[in-house]
Amino acid sequence: LMQLSVPLNFIGFIYREIRQGLTDIEQMFDLLDVRQEVVDAPGATPLVVEAGRVEFRDVHFAYEQNRSILKGVSFEVPAGKTVAIVGPSGAGKSTISRLLFRFYDVQKGAVLIDGQDVRDVTQESLRASIGMVPQDTVLFNDTVAYNIRYGRIDASDEDVRRAAGLAQIGPFIEGLPDGYRTMVGERGLKLSGGEKQRVAIARTILKSPPILILDEATSALDSHTEQEIQAALDLVSRGRTTIVIAHRLSTVISADEIIVLKDGSIAERGTHAALLKAGGLYASMWDRQREATEAEERLRIAREND
Ligand code: ATP
Repeated sequence: LMQLSVPLNFIGFIYREIRQGLTDIEQMFDLLDVRQEVVDAPGATPLVVEAGRVEFRDVHFAYEQNRSILKGVSFEVPAGKTVAIVGPSGAGKSTISRLLFRFYDVQKGAVLIDGQDVRDVTQESLRASIGMVPQDTVLFNDTVAYNIRYGRIDASDEDVRRAAGLAQIGPFIEGLPDGYRTMVGERGLKLSGGEKQRVAIARTILKSPPILILDEATSALDSHTEQEIQAALDLVSRGRTTIVIAHRLSTVISADEIIVLKDGSIAERGTHAALLKAGGLYASMWDRQREATEAEERLRIAREND
């Protein structure tokens, strides 16, 4: 029995290491389920990103038959601009990012990047062109430097430090006992949600993709952290085509266009100011969120005074 248990342990160890590496992407995209469905078309060629214009053209999509999630969604993100997708929970916001990465194929319509249908290009080239800052980044059990360098394996130490600085996490890392060599992840130092997100931003700065998806955290961050993250996100999205999947509304104010999804269709679209003025769904979501934020703030102050 002893002889058997050692290799089994070892296999368990390897399995966990591989799992850990995959969790990051898998968590967001259920990659393992999807991989069997989506394959490169025969004769697929690499995506050629020129300006980086993204277009959803009359997209219909369902995960399961008879339950459509997107029902004819059309929008465009001009090169270098930012479009925010907002809407109630379950409206299909994250589905849009999965379709852009082609983790699933649309049932009708098309997803295009600079006029190229994502079904006609190699998945490798597609995914190399899109950067993702996920809601909840899972870190590798390795150094903080490794976790940042993962964005571009051949980046120099100087590049890693510069990216961390831009992502507003440099001073925090330098203050750790082992600096950039500090072990993080499950078996190392546990980072907060906001710190992990800044590590993900630093990674993306290193990867420097022409197209970016920011999947904003659902969880509330304190307002100081939120401001720091916002500054880092503004920096990384500058000049890149950016889609913000917004679960809170505070980051969408400066978007070039806001798309309000409801029950799989676009209910409203426009700038923050125009949508507020229109007094529709967006305006009521905004009011509700502001009330919630104010209530939280009052609670915090009350606690501090206790
Ligand atoms: P939230 O703001 O709560 O994150 P969302 O707008 O991002 O929501 P999506 O994650 O796009 O919503 O999901 C849209 C709908 O699709 C939901 O009803 C969800 O249950 C369903 N859905 C998501 N992923 C799958 C899947 N892999 N298989 C089947 N249904 C799914």
